[in-house]
Amino acid sequence: MNPLSRIPERSGTAFTLRKGQFLVVIDPLGQQVADLVAFNAADTREAISSGRTLDYAERIYLSTGDTLYSNRSQAMLDIVEDSVGRHDFLLTPCSIDTFRHFYPDKPPHRGCFGNLTAALEPYGIQADQIPGAFNCFMNVPVDADTGKLRVLPPLSRAGDHVRFEAGMDLIIGLTACSAYDSNGGTFKPIDYRIE
Ligand SMILES: [Zn+2]
Repeated sequence: MNPLSRIPERSGTAFTLRKGQFLVVIDPLGQQVADLVAFNAADTREAISSGRTLDYAERIYLSTGDTLYSNRSQAMLDIVEDSVGRHDFLLTPCSIDTFRHFYPDKPPHRGCFGNLTAALEPYGIQADQIPGAFNCFMNVPVDADTGKLRVLPPLSRAGDHVRFEAGMDLIIGLTACSAYDSNGGTFKPIDYRIE
């Protein structure tokens, strides 16, 4: 089994994931979000697509048995295990603009978007290519009548995980999210392992 890798708080990383390999994303301490984006390793114009995925799933809350699709409607990642059952695929990665919008009195941070941009740059992926992320463990309830969104602390507890199976050769970007509300007000690391 491959060793566990750790993404320090408020940072991100990128790596390749081959077709048929598994990616396990673990919340080691609990209540910490991890933003996940995926690109076709053979053509990075193909990327994970919230719109396609939610359209096909006919739901906004995804879990075991659901597939994350690309903008070209190909299966990129299957969720094969999920010990939490609540993730978000509506909201974009937090960014310096997010901090200016929601936290004008706090020091700005480049956020998941800046961390993903830096991590994916060596793979030739530009900032404008970064799609909406699958936000592991992010808890965004939606009011059934008004559609009003709230960002509440994650339901994940220490050691909770999601296991994905790659449907094609992928470049993955993964973060330990930097935003206050998404993570219950504190910033923790994220662990992952490729199997
Ligand atoms: Zn974030």
